[in-house]
Formats: sequence, structure tokens, C-alpha cells
Amino acid sequence: MVAVAGVRRQGVGKPASIYRLVRTSRYAIGAHVARSTLRLVLSDLVGAVVDSSFSRLPTDFTPADLLAAMRAGIAALTNAHPFTEGKLVGVGIGMVGPLDHAQGIVRDAHRLRHWHDVPLRDQAAAALEMPVFLDKDVTAGVFAEGWRQGFRDAALIMVESGIGAGLWLGGAAHRGAHTNAGEFGHTVVQLNGPACVCGRRGCLEVVHDTAADAGDVEFAARVLATGIVNLLQTVDVDHVVLAGADLIRRSDVYVAAVREAVLLEVPRADWLTVEVTVSELGADVVAAGAAMEVLNERFGVPHA
Ligand SMILES: [Zn+2]
Repeated sequence: MVAVAGVRRQGVGKPASIYRLVRTSRYAIGAHVARSTLRLVLSDLVGAVVDSSFSRLPTDFTPADLLAAMRAGIAALTNAHPFTEGKLVGVGIGMVGPLDHAQGIVRDAHRLRHWHDVPLRDQAAAALEMPVFLDKDVTAGVFAEGWRQGFRDAALIMVESGIGAGLWLGGAAHRGAHTNAGEFGHTVVQLNGPACVCGRRGCLEVVHDTAADAGDVEFAARVLATGIVNLLQTVDVDHVVLAGADLIRRSDVYVAAVREAVLLEVPRADWLTVEVTVSELGADVVAAGAAMEVLNERFGVPHA
């Protein structure tokens, strides 16, 4: 996994050898399981995406449907890259929650009928015959950003058939006591607002989606921006990374709204500076992060 990259002579004594990671020595698979789609990436040892694939999952898919799709997708990726044979270390899954990362159980994926208390990590490990790491989609996503960019405090805001936030605090993913941190879409922004899938009223997600579905992207973006300012006032991060297919399509509108809100609505914005960007990993961010989590779990690979 490492190779000599040279020697460093430091005056007297034996020269010190310098090593580098051999990025092609190990690979990991990352999976992003959304409500109707599966995205897979093949990642090398330092977390770079070698290849990716995308497929639609059956409507109201079951755990067995997902495992079959994952097995087929992983076989297609590895067959296309035969040099990965014998070098795969595991599969990371980033999935819609709520779920329990420590126990590997999907607790209650909103809007998915067959996903209540499903021990997905162990089922997938048995079906795929590899170690599996399960995390919430947004946490896998923020892991990708935090790990690659060496952030100390950051949030990844994802808008993709729902809204969530991955939190990266003090240089590590923050999952909370029940892996339930980041249910950002289900914080209320409008008392007595429209009913939400979670059972409350006026959640950020349902208020945002109502505007977006009506074609008012500007207002939807302002709703999201208000939620982000609330989040900044709660956890004080200095990097906000925007992601998710529904946001990327109109990233110009969202970036403008969030930057404006950060400037105008954060008290003392001159001092509480926040960098707002769109993820450079695009649609791969969650799957890539899930693969990085497997590599980090297995090897504790330092920042690439
Ligand atoms: Zn809700």
C-alpha cells in the first residue's frame, strides 16, 4: 500500500526514506441510496472517484430490491475495471434516514414504506460478502468535503427529494446521540404551515418544496437560506457546501440567496465570515463520501 518515493538526507546518519500511498493498491465502493435512485462510485485508496454508475430503483423498493441492484451495479463496475480484483476493501452506503449508524439499522426512511428497522449493514455485508459501513446520506456527503478539504467546521446542505444537513464539527463528522443530527429539513420555519411527512407542520422541507413545486425557485431558495442562517446561529460553522440534484439544477439562484442571507441576516457578518460554495463532487458527493468513510474506517487514511 506504500512505496518508497525517495530519500531525505539530513546531514549525518542514515538517510530517511520517504513513502507515499500507492493509490491503486486498494479500492472501495461507495453507494448513495436515494428514494428512487442508486448511485455507485469506485474510489481509489485516497478517495478519488475512478468511475461511477447510476440506476433507477423500483418504485417503493424493498431491501431485497436494493441489495440486488447493488450487487449488479458493483459487479458491472468491477468488471469494467479488472485491476480492482482482490483489492476491494468494502462498501460504504449513504442512505436517506433516519438511521442508526452505530447499529447499522435504517430506522425509518421517510416516504419508503419497506424501510423500518431494517438491519441494512449486516444484510448488505452478507449479500455482498464485504465489510459494509452505513451512514446517513448527508453525513457521508459532509465527510467527503471535510476529509478532502481539511475543514474544521462545516455543513453540507443537501436538497434532493428532501432537505438535510451533514455536520462536520471540530474536524470530524457529527452524528449526535442517535445518528439523528442533521434532520435540518424537519426544523419548523412556519408555525401552522403545511403538513410535513414527519408529522409536524411548517418544516423547512415542506415549505421549501411547496414553493419549488409551484415554480417559485427564488422563494424556495430564500426559505433554504433562512434555515441555513438559523443553523449558523446554532452551530457556528465557517464553510457551507451546497449539494443535491434539486439544488445543483438552479445553483446560481441558491448560491445567491444563501450568500445574501449570510451577509444580511447573520449579525456581525463582517466578523462571522462564512464561505458558501457548491460541492465540486457534484452528484457523486454522497457516494464518494461513503467510500471515503470505508477507507477511513479501515486504514485511517490521512487527508489526501
Ligand atoms: Zn418535517
